[in-house]
Amino acid sequence: MKAWQDKIRSVVPYTPGEQPNRPNMIKLNTNENPYPPAPGVRDVLDHFDEDRLRLYPDPTAGTLVGALADYYHVGKDQVFTGVGSDDVLAIAFMTFFNSDKPIFFPDITYSFYPVWADLFKVPYETKPLKEDFSICPQDYYPANGGVIFPNPNAPTSHYEDLSVIREILDHNQDVIVIVDEAYIDFAGESALSLLDDYENLLIVQTFSKSRSMAGMRIGYAIGHPELIKAMNDVKYSFNSYTMSQTALALGVEAVRDDVYFKACTAKIRATREKAKQAFTDLGFTYPEPGANFIFVTHPDYPAKELFAALREKDIYVRYFDKPRINNYLRVTIGTDEQMEALFAFLKEYMNR
Ligand code: PMP
Repeated sequence: MKAWQDKIRSVVPYTPGEQPNRPNMIKLNTNENPYPPAPGVRDVLDHFDEDRLRLYPDPTAGTLVGALADYYHVGKDQVFTGVGSDDVLAIAFMTFFNSDKPIFFPDITYSFYPVWADLFKVPYETKPLKEDFSICPQDYYPANGGVIFPNPNAPTSHYEDLSVIREILDHNQDVIVIVDEAYIDFAGESALSLLDDYENLLIVQTFSKSRSMAGMRIGYAIGHPELIKAMNDVKYSFNSYTMSQTALALGVEAVRDDVYFKACTAKIRATREKAKQAFTDLGFTYPEPGANFIFVTHPDYPAKELFAALREKDIYVRYFDKPRINNYLRVTIGTDEQMEALFAFLKEYMNR
């Protein structure tokens, strides 16, 4: 081994879902939105003045921060934006998780959390979800260096009521508690309503799912001004110009069209209801889904086998070969037509 090899930081990276690009494929593997962004986004793209690309973007992302602050009725000093919520979460890990005590998160959760913890050398402990994939709030009572969990959870789609989040916050007043709400617009109430009561709460959301803009990479955090300032200090110590001119322009437009946003999320919820019934009819079970995906298992058909059979037909879903969940498939809710094609194939496969 060469001496310099010893000095290379070695990390086990996060594995993103595959992004195949095949004609006629049905892509239900990375929780993207099957519908286009708000129509105004198209107009802004069509009229985008490329001369603006000569200039650096506004490092404060002022227009987008302002649009989000107006939309959520919070101060501009309560909003932080980043390159997808992955960027926002990574900055939050760097900013808030600096204790010798371990941070806590569920054993089954967004698989990026342990990767960031390792990258930033943050000690962590996972807390087992109950059999039904719900959080046991008492697990989060002991002293820790911070708490993070998604609500709804990924990949289970399980949504926790705000009473559970309140309980966790009540027992964690001395650390930052991050609620990753990537999928909240398909679920129940957001923890945003708790912000006035808990200044140590940080909520992270994204344009990637409910706003159909995964390709544009826009995420944001909302919290107490002191938390947002601390995140900005870290951001400016790392990369000042994270939001591109196009992301700023298109992001503002997407926030503006609330009617489209509500219609689009309602359509996905309606398809989710139909999908639940179709999965039940085929003998699958699943935790009640709160997100734009459903986490299904079947008593007779191993998930790994179904995953491979679907893939053969260019129907992509997600399979995690991990303890407790290795007999489940995570299926993104697509259009009605895509879901019908999925169920037609499953029916045929199971009748063979
Ligand atoms: N949080 C959770 C729970 C997710 O599933 C994802 C999607 N991979 C993200 C955050 C990150 O999404 P994005 O960076 O596209 O905003």
